[in-house]
Amino acid sequence: MSYENLALKYRPQILDDLVGQEAFIRTIKNAVEAGRLAKAFLFYGPRGCGKTSSARILAKTLNCRNIKDNNPCGKCSSCLEISQSRSLDVLEIDAASHTQVQNVRDVIIDNINIAPSRDKYKIYILDEVHMLSNSAFNALLKTVEEPPPHAVFIMATTEINKVPATIISRCQTFRFKPISKEELKKRLAEICEKEKFSYEDKALDIIASSCGGAMRDALTILDRISSFSKGKIETSLTFETLGLPPEEIVKKLALSILNRDASGINSVFKIISSDGFEPQAVLRELRNYFAQSFLSANSFSLDASFDVPAGHNPYSFAKLSRKMNRIMEEIKFSDNPLLACEMALYTVIETPVDIEALVKRLEAAESAVSGNYTAPPSFQEQKPQPILRENTEEEKKTEILKAPLHSSEIWRKVTDVISSEDPALFNFLSDCSAIFGENEWKLRFEKDFPKVFCSKKSQYISSLIAKTAGRDIKISFELKNNPQEVVDVTNSKSPDNQENNEVENLNWQDINEGDPKDTFPEYKKISKMLKGSIVKVHKIKNKESAK
Ligand SMILES: [Zn+2]
Repeated sequence: MSYENLALKYRPQILDDLVGQEAFIRTIKNAVEAGRLAKAFLFYGPRGCGKTSSARILAKTLNCRNIKDNNPCGKCSSCLEISQSRSLDVLEIDAASHTQVQNVRDVIIDNINIAPSRDKYKIYILDEVHMLSNSAFNALLKTVEEPPPHAVFIMATTEINKVPATIISRCQTFRFKPISKEELKKRLAEICEKEKFSYEDKALDIIASSCGGAMRDALTILDRISSFSKGKIETSLTFETLGLPPEEIVKKLALSILNRDASGINSVFKIISSDGFEPQAVLRELRNYFAQSFLSANSFSLDASFDVPAGHNPYSFAKLSRKMNRIMEEIKFSDNPLLACEMALYTVIETPVDIEALVKRLEAAESAVSGNYTAPPSFQEQKPQPILRENTEEEKKTEILKAPLHSSEIWRKVTDVISSEDPALFNFLSDCSAIFGENEWKLRFEKDFPKVFCSKKSQYISSLIAKTAGRDIKISFELKNNPQEVVDVTNSKSPDNQENNEVENLNWQDINEGDPKDTFPEYKKISKMLKGSIVKVHKIKNKESAK
C-alpha cells in the first residue's frame, strides 16, 4: 500500500470526527434530525481550523444514502466520491481563481437549474469566497436568496469582513475557532497510539503550541518527525525539526538579557550560530518565554510548572516580550539576520529594562542629597511584585497616617522639648493627631478649644520644628470633623490674612432672605442625594471675594 500522509489519513470524514467544533456538529445534527437544513451556509474563521473539511462533511450529510445517528456513513458511493473530490454533484470552487462576474455566471448561475446527476442535492462549495469581486457577489445574490430546490451553497472564508452583508444575511453562518492546544495534543496522542509511535509528552506539547491551532499543520509536523525517527517522537528531535532552539538556550539568553550580561548574550549567540538556529525562531521563543514569565508571575497562567526568573518586576517581562516582537519585524529584511538579532539584543540591555526600579533609585538618590538617605532598591534585590491595583479608600487613609519615619521622629523630638518647656501646650498637643506631608504638617484636633490654644503658639512650634528638621515646614491646625475649617497659622501673622481666612457660621437666612430651595437648588440636590437636610451653611470668605 502506498504511503498516505497523516494529515490526509486522519482527515475528518464524518461529523463526529471534527475536533473542537461542537456547536457546528450539534446544530447540523439537530437540523438533519428535524429535516430542516438551510440552503446557504457561510463558514468563517482562521485558516486550518477545519472549514473545508466541515464543508465536505456537510455535503456528505446532505447527499449520503445511509445516514446513521445523523452522521453521514462515509462508505456509500456518494460519501466516498466527496472525500476524493470527484463527485459530479458537489462542485468545489476556489473563489480566488474565479473572482470575475463572468466566472460566476459560467460556473454557477447558468448551470444551477440543471438537476443533480445522481444525488439529492447539487452542492456548490465556494472556498475563500471573500475573493469574489463586488459584481460577482451581486450576480450571486439572487441565486443564493432563491436557489432551486436541489441547490445548496456552502461558502467558506478567512475574512468575513470582506463578505457583503447582503450575502451574510442570507446564509446560516458558523464561526470556526482555532483548535485549542489541549484538543490538538489529545488528538496527536490518539494518532500516535493508532500509529504505534512512541512519544514524549513534552514533544506533543511543543507541536500543539507551534501549529497556530491548525490540525493539518500539527499532523504535518508529526508526520515529518515520525518519518525521520521511525516513529519515535522525542522532544529534542521536535525542537530540531521545527528549527526551534532548545529550552536551555532560550532560558540562558533570556537570563543574560534580564541581567544585562553582554558576554552571556555573546556566548549564547556563538552556539546559535554554530548549530544553525533560525534567529526568527530564537526571537519567537524568547518572546514566548518573557510572555509566559509575565503571565505566571501574575498568576494569569495555568502552567504551574513554569519557573519565573526571580528578582524582576513582572512588567519588565511584558516590555521585553513586546521588544522581541519589534526586533522580529526589524530583522525580517536584514541581509544578516543573525548579526542584526544579536546587535538588537545588545541595545535592549543598554536601555533600562526596569524603569520603575530606576525611578526609585533616582528618588532615593534625591532624598540622600537632602539628608534622608534610604537604601535604593537594586535590580537584583527587587522582589517580584503583585500586579498593581488602585488602593482602596481605607488603604489611602492608613497611608496618610503612616508617616515617613523621619517626620514622626522630628515630631517626637519637638514634643519632647515642649513637654519640658511648656507642659500646658504639650498636654493639648498630645490630644491631636499629626498628619505629615512633604512640606506641610496638619495638626488635627477633636475639640475647638485645644485647637485655638495651640494655634496661638504656632510660631513657637514652627521654630522648634525648623530647628529639629533643619528646614521650614508649614503647620496648620484643623478640627477632625470639619476638615474645611482650616486655620492657616503660617499665614496668620498679618491681621489682613487672618481676615481673609476667617470662617463664618451662617444660617440660611444670613445668606439669603428668600427660599433656599429657589436660591440654592444644587444644595437641595446634594441633600437629596445624601438623604439629609441642610442645617447650616459654612461660608468661607476667600481673598477674591474680600476684594
Ligand atoms: Zn454515505
